[in-house]
Amino acid sequence: MQVESDQTKCPICNTKGLQHFPILHHMICAYVGPKYDFGLSDSAYSCPKCDRQIASNDAACEIVGLSARCLGCGSEMVVTPPGRQVSKERSE
Ligand SMILES: [Zn+2]
Ligand SMILES: [Zn+2]
Repeated sequence: MQVESDQTKCPICNTKGLQHFPILHHMICAYVGPKYDFGLSDSAYSCPKCDRQIASNDAACEIVGLSARCLGCGSEMVVTPPGRQVSKERSE
């Protein structure tokens, strides 16, 4: 299941409650997971795998994608990154 980056409506249950969150890659231990796995505070993350503290602009932690979770049905889906959307029709 894929949603657009500006989509807030769940394609599964039609609830307007999609939450978008970045997928983070911790290069030190190679953990990849959604941002909420790293802690809910905006200023202090810690890696759930290696337990290291991660600063908000830490170079060892990169955003590798976007994901979305529905508050209504709990489904998770991939968010198409802006600018990399497959064009539905070709304009010439
Ligand atoms: Zn880690
Ligand atoms: Zn839903």
